Amino acid sequence: MTVKRVYLDHAATTPTHPDVVAAMLPHFTDGFGNPSSIYSYGQEARGAIEDAREKVAGLIGARPEEIVFTGGGTESDNFALKGTVFADPKRNHIITSAIEHHAIMESCGFLEKRGFKVTYLPVGQDGLVDPDEAKKAITTETVLMSVMHANNEIGTIQPIAELAAIAREAGVYFHTDAVQTTGQIPVKVDGLGVDMLAISAHKLYGPKGVGALYIRKGTRLVPFMHGGGQERNRRGGTENVPGIVGFGKATEIAAGVLEQEAPRQAALRERLAGTILEQIEDTHLNGHATKRLPNNVNISIDYVEGESMLLNLDLEGICASTGSACSSSSLEASHVLLALGLAHEQAHSSLRFTVGKWTTDEDIDRVLEVLPQVVSKLRAMSPLLKSR
Ligand code: PLP
Repeated sequence: MTVKRVYLDHAATTPTHPDVVAAMLPHFTDGFGNPSSIYSYGQEARGAIEDAREKVAGLIGARPEEIVFTGGGTESDNFALKGTVFADPKRNHIITSAIEHHAIMESCGFLEKRGFKVTYLPVGQDGLVDPDEAKKAITTETVLMSVMHANNEIGTIQPIAELAAIAREAGVYFHTDAVQTTGQIPVKVDGLGVDMLAISAHKLYGPKGVGALYIRKGTRLVPFMHGGGQERNRRGGTENVPGIVGFGKATEIAAGVLEQEAPRQAALRERLAGTILEQIEDTHLNGHATKRLPNNVNISIDYVEGESMLLNLDLEGICASTGSACSSSSLEASHVLLALGLAHEQAHSSLRFTVGKWTTDEDIDRVLEVLPQVVSKLRAMSPLLKSR
């Protein structure tokens, strides 16, 4: 018997929208030209890229020439950090938060090993950065502040406009990793006041391996990928034409459905989180109750291991996550949950469900039917519970 799959891990990746696939397909076949070629095959591909650039720019209220296509969110974050610090030899201090994605954390670690100084702003129990702390951390050496728009594990949405204004007043560049927010909630670069912003296509029903970095006109950063001068000399390498076209289509679709989808997903999220917290004892919501992504539920279920719950849910066809997808192959407790002040055991007992475009009420019913059984079964065997 095959079980119906219930996919509730949209923060890890989203299914590619069929219209996105359809838009991409011709660029693998007839439209295979190299966008740098001057004959018509090439120019058709160039036109498709520029069309996609307008769509991506449109979603975030940017100008098309401020969009640089990259190989995804990780590359965009790397480019923002390394590009700005290497462009300014006089300043060597970066401010970021303790709960950033690995793309930022590891880039900061790399830079620290090369003599840069990094301040990791702490967060409160709800996952929020305190703007006063950010202000106090700025020195004459500070070149960049980078704080993510919303966290991929707990969904907490940061006060980016406030933080970016503080940075701007001090003459410090501001980057935000908006990989989890773009397409989910309104993201406008002017409203946020950011200099740089990272996006990834596969989090908004587009293809994997393509993303963008928004770079506000006038921002000084050195290229990160050297090559044939593509992307106005900002990112060398023949463009991923089908990927970029798919990304453009995905942003166009997102712009059209965002207003209806966010409240629909929030209602599913509320029912899922509310019922788990009510019906299963010793459960706690992680992250901010209201300042969070509409699709995110992150709950610690005491006395059970997240990994065991995941495997048992998987046997029932339910896909969820514990910690972030990128770190779930290692058994280290999530740095995000630890930064909220959770004990190691509670961090290990966390489950993240992220609903999406095709999640239905029946999907939520199924989780609410299966999860309590899984928890009871595991708690009955739990050495943690016995030692209580
Ligand atoms: N930043 C955040 C907040 C993410 O959630 C992710 C993906 O998990 C990334 C960056 C990396 O994006 P990509 O998978 O496109 O490299």
